[in-house]
Amino acid sequence: MSDVDVAIIGAGPYGLSLAAHLSAARVSYRHLGVPMRLWREAMPQGMFLKSQGFASNLSDPAGTHTLETFCQTTGRPYQSYGLPVSLDTFVGYGQWFQSELDLKVDEVAVTGVVQRGDGFELALADGERFASRTVVVAIGVEHFAYVPAPLSDLPVSACTHSSAHTDLAAFRGQEVTVVGAGQSALESAALLHENGAKVQVLARRRVIAWNGPPLDPDRPLLRRLREPEAGLGSGWSTWFYSEHPGLFRRLPRRTRVYRARTALGPAGACWLRERVEGRFPVRTGHTVTSATALNGAVRLSVGRLSVAGAGTAVSELTTDHVIAATGYRINLERLGFLPGAMLSCLRTVGGSAAVGRDYQSSIPGLYFIGPSVAPSMGPVMRFVFGAEHAATTVGRHLAAVSGRRSSPAMAADR
Ligand SMILES: Cc1cc2nc3c(=O)[nH]c(=O)nc-3n(C[C@H](O)[C@H](O)[C@H](O)COP(=O)(O)OP(=O)(O)OC[C@H]3O[C@@H](n4cnc5c(N)ncnc54)[C@H](O)[C@@H]3O)c2cc1C
Repeated sequence: MSDVDVAIIGAGPYGLSLAAHLSAARVSYRHLGVPMRLWREAMPQGMFLKSQGFASNLSDPAGTHTLETFCQTTGRPYQSYGLPVSLDTFVGYGQWFQSELDLKVDEVAVTGVVQRGDGFELALADGERFASRTVVVAIGVEHFAYVPAPLSDLPVSACTHSSAHTDLAAFRGQEVTVVGAGQSALESAALLHENGAKVQVLARRRVIAWNGPPLDPDRPLLRRLREPEAGLGSGWSTWFYSEHPGLFRRLPRRTRVYRARTALGPAGACWLRERVEGRFPVRTGHTVTSATALNGAVRLSVGRLSVAGAGTAVSELTTDHVIAATGYRINLERLGFLPGAMLSCLRTVGGSAAVGRDYQSSIPGLYFIGPSVAPSMGPVMRFVFGAEHAATTVGRHLAAVSGRRSSPAMAADR
């Protein structure tokens, strides 16, 4: 006999949204994780979200607990479009969402999940064990920080991933080299510069991509038809990714894997541009070919990329610290809580769990939502905007099957 019908692992935007749906549907569930931990502990103070206000909502069934309502209630500035949302506001919103909807989260890590009978047994870091009929994995990206070689061989005193820092003012007076070309690299570099560090950016890309300024909402119909605006940005392909994760799932496997990885690639927000260009050196078309930790510093060999893409060592530089703003790569083996026996039964796509239209994996009763299912459901899963589809779909499905085993119809569809 299971203690609960659903165990949700993870309390970021996806986990909290699903909890709101399960709670409203009176499904018995237990929720584990530290609410909004990635946003509170792995992003720099002073950061702004790249997603627009209207695309930064958590999902609740009534659609009442929006970022806009939170901002109105707490007297914070808000515009659905064109006004960047501060990290501080978004963290506050997540906490408000949880407390207003009375969502109980146990702030403890899940250390093990095993299949038992017709469900699962979960082990928690505090030694407790409990049984659940189904498990939803909503662990985001924090387990998957990616640092490329040769930087990955450096000690943390010399090189850290961008997620290691909440206070970039700690680097005041130091020389810091940021590696990367996306929003995280560019914004971290801007914050370092503004906080008194001597910063430079090294980027493999030949040109930094910048998003364009907000589109005029009152633009003529023809312009709107040519370039529709959606949760992830503008343009028809972006509209498709934003609005139709269920159809994305029907694309050929290779296309899905490619699009999940490359769509909406590294680019800086338009409002960040003036804080970067002309403020500090950004060396594009460069890659680090070797790195050596010195006593309190790092020596980097930096190659200029040839047309073929290979690096040729052209210069050396010494810096106090390197920040690798090089993103995240999903690798389920890094999820310490799923045993090898379960991992080997899990059908995967692009290194992530392959899920059906109900977000259920090839292990019946085990669901995945959020960035780890981008190769199944599309790039929208990498963003808060995808929480609406995931939480609504999984919430409805689990409410329908709560109390019985997972739906045979859905399982057959996978
Ligand atoms: C610097 C940065 C900026 C970003 N900016 C934006 C943006 O502007 N707009 C946007 O839409 N997206 C942005 N993103 C993407 C963002 O990561 C995702 O949109 C969102 O966080 C995914 O939510 P999630 O709930 O899947 O995961 P997360 O927010 O990562 O939450 C994961 C949860 O899992 C829990 N957890 C992990 N392991 C365990 C365990 N073993 N046991 C129990 N709990 C566990 C954690 O405690 C946490 O509660 C940004 C990402 C980064 C890194």
